[in-house]
Formats: sequence, structure tokens, C-alpha cells
Amino acid sequence: MLATHLVDLTGPLDGVRFPNLCVACGVTPPAGDVPLEKMFRRTYHESPTTYEYANVRVPLCARCLTVHERARGPIDPAALRRLRRQWALKILPYVFPTSAILWLLAHLTPLLARSGTALLGRSRNWGDLLVLGIVLFFAFCLYGFVRASLDAGRPLVDRTGDLGDAYVRTQRGALGSWYVVPDGPTPPLAAVDFGDEQFEILAPNHRTFRFASADVAARFAAVNADRVWDPASPQARQASRVQRLAVVAVVVAVLGAAVWQLLPFR
Ligand SMILES: [Zn+2]
Repeated sequence: MLATHLVDLTGPLDGVRFPNLCVACGVTPPAGDVPLEKMFRRTYHESPTTYEYANVRVPLCARCLTVHERARGPIDPAALRRLRRQWALKILPYVFPTSAILWLLAHLTPLLARSGTALLGRSRNWGDLLVLGIVLFFAFCLYGFVRASLDAGRPLVDRTGDLGDAYVRTQRGALGSWYVVPDGPTPPLAAVDFGDEQFEILAPNHRTFRFASADVAARFAAVNADRVWDPASPQARQASRVQRLAVVAVVVAVLGAAVWQLLPFR
């Protein structure tokens, strides 16, 4: 990718604005927009690796839209098959208990109706309360199993390739599941890229956008002027000073505590 013109923005991605032009060739006005979808791998020292999905809608002119549509083939069917299999395996453990509870609830409904009527008639029969309790318990279990099976499919990522910082495409599947498959950008989409969010302790989080065109980058910075992150700004410099001071304070505190523990006359 040739893009080398960088713009750093703070704040969430859904508030990012694009200038009223085609990001690939600069023609105004754009004819429509297409999603630019990315997946970021986040590795931690002790916690398991996580994958973060992010997307923005990028404006393109009519000619670039046509080039984009032509260059964009269908999502790799083999990858989709793999992900559908993965999804089926993930929800399989929930299918039997969910069906069993549904069957039970269907059979308990007439009993529940009778107990409910009796309880509303101020009956003090413990049997009626027990039926109500059992039904509530199974309804709660059913809710848990349905939630778990829905969570199992969101999102399913095809990890056969390297997913360090990848362009991806997504497709919705059954029961709220969605499939994420790595797929390179089309030539018009390659004119813009964005990186993962950079976390700061005492300054706003920010992420970098890269543009192939200096002009588009400048226009992009202008329409997002209120949230451009400038590491040389007084605010950023002060944040980094405070951050350094905080690190020094923590180191001094830890060393102080260690020395205190080792003092012989305590
Ligand atoms: Zn264009």
C-alpha cells in the first residue's frame, strides 16, 4: 500500500466524517459509500488474544464504485463453509437442553395456567407455588441457553490466515451469527486505511488513518478538525509529561515499599 499521508483522530470510529469527495480519486461529489472493514489482533501479556472488529463507510465516485464492485468477488466460499461448521459445532451443546426445556415448558403450560388461576384466587396451596417456581426456573435456564447459543456466533472469525491487522469482509448468518473473513481491499478501497485504537492512560485514545492522496488527507483532517490528535500539541505534550511522571511515581512507590520491607530495624 502506497498510502503515507497520516491523520490521527481521537474518539469513536462512528463519529468519523469523510469529506464530500471520492477518497480514491478526489472527484466531487461522491456517488455512494462502501464499508471498509478491519480486524485487529490485540495481544496481552497474560490474558488471551482478542480480535477487535472495526469499520467505516468510505465515499467513492461512480467510476470508482464500478471498479470496486468489479474487483470484489464473492467471499471465499471455503472460508464461509468452515465458519458455518464452526458455528454449528459451537451451538450443538445448546440444542439438546434448549429443546428439552421447550418440551417441558410446553407440557407445564396447562398446569401453570391452573396454578396461576388458583394463586390469583388467593389459594395458599404450596403445590401451585412449586409449579410456578419450577416453570420460572426452566424459563431462566431457557433464557441462559438461548443467550449462550446466540453469543456463540458473534463474530466467527476465519483465522486460517494472519489476522494481525487485516482487511476483512463480513456476512450475516443464522440466529444473529456473523462471519468475518480476511479479504484484501479493492484498488479504490486501498486508497484509505486505518489502524487499531491506541490506548493512552492520561490522554484521549486515538487511531491513525492513512491516505494515498495528500489532498484527501488534508480535507479529511479539515472535516474532523475538532478531533485531530496532534502529538506535538501542548495538550498532548502535557499528557505525555504527566504519564511519564505517573510511571516514575509508581516505580518510586514500588521501590520504596520493597526497601521498607527489607529494613532490619522494623
Ligand atoms: Zn473516484
